[in-house]
Amino acid sequence: MSGRSAVTFPLAPGATLGILGGGQLGRMLSLAAARLGFDVMILTPDKNAPASRVAAKTLVADYENHAALDKLAKACAVITFEFENVPAAALERLAARGALTAPNAQALAVAQDRLVEKTFLNDAGLPTVGFAAVESEADLVEALSRLGAPLLLKSRRGGYDGKGQIWVRRAAEAAQALAAIGSGPAIAETPADFRRELAIIGGRGRDGEIALYPLTESHHENGILRRTTAPARRAEKAALEAERIAATLLTALDYVGVLGVELFERDDGRLLVNEFAPRVHNTGHWTLDGCEVDQFEQHIRAIAGWPLGPTRAERAVEMINLLGDEAQAWAKFAAEPESRLWLYGKAEAKPGRKMGHVNRLSRPELG
Ligand code: AMP
Repeated sequence: MSGRSAVTFPLAPGATLGILGGGQLGRMLSLAAARLGFDVMILTPDKNAPASRVAAKTLVADYENHAALDKLAKACAVITFEFENVPAAALERLAARGALTAPNAQALAVAQDRLVEKTFLNDAGLPTVGFAAVESEADLVEALSRLGAPLLLKSRRGGYDGKGQIWVRRAAEAAQALAAIGSGPAIAETPADFRRELAIIGGRGRDGEIALYPLTESHHENGILRRTTAPARRAEKAALEAERIAATLLTALDYVGVLGVELFERDDGRLLVNEFAPRVHNTGHWTLDGCEVDQFEQHIRAIAGWPLGPTRAERAVEMINLLGDEAQAWAKFAAEPESRLWLYGKAEAKPGRKMGHVNRLSRPELG
């Protein structure tokens, strides 16, 4: 069945690492991998993908293209992902060809479905908002009477950056709300009633070693991350709880690699898990300039079976996403001595599209 010889860890430099997806996360993973002496092979349907400009090789094909998946499986010692919505069929094909993936297929499957994800989190003893499965108008009406109103209706699969979500206040709105999110299987959630949104990035090695970055504060606009404040302010207790949550999740998923956990902080200080991303995450971009080993290098270290690196914040950082036209001000950011500019090499600046980010080092020392 297997097309390749057994892989031994730690993986020696010179090996090829595969990445499914060619966006900015793949680009920054490729940069980190190259620095450690690995070659990267990208699989992406986009012939102008941000990652392909820095990766050693790119296969331009759909994620379910068998010939491309087989090439990837043959060439790569380990294959990873820069987005979570990889089709299950692609994972099955890679497994059938003897390819080793990290993180594992279960972690992706859990993260791909909001209902499975929240159920998994609760089963692992981690707190979330209340929720109900919604397959029909009757389910939604029943959820409104059982959990109370309002509820946030989300599609179970595929939504991101706040897309595919709508608040439902009354039973009379149920049918219209379901149609608005596309009528597929859905989940209805109780309001999180949060005072802040927080996030934590964590990594787990092949030997089960866990390394967690400091807790950060997320500021969203129109469902899109605008800024990350790192480390989060006034958050000693929350940081301990977030660390417990991230470590529990990494272990429960038998995870290898880096993941991002999005959290709600309620008025009473309690944390709820919103969701996790089985990959490097936008809320971890500050680590590129705030830590000795950033999230991208950490992910490469973990999947290659290397020891994990230090995660302490060496600097306080304000990470600002450059959306749409904002990246045109690159010369201004480049002239700021306290700013580190990261641009993703995307040609077309659509409104809201993540074109780059700036890490503003607000203080030379943590204090
Ligand atoms: P998501 O795509 O599920 O991460 O949701 C995007 C954003 O919607 C979150 O970052 C929150 O700002 C908000 N949100 C998500 N779920 C809830 C909820 N149950 N209650 C209140 N706000 C939410």
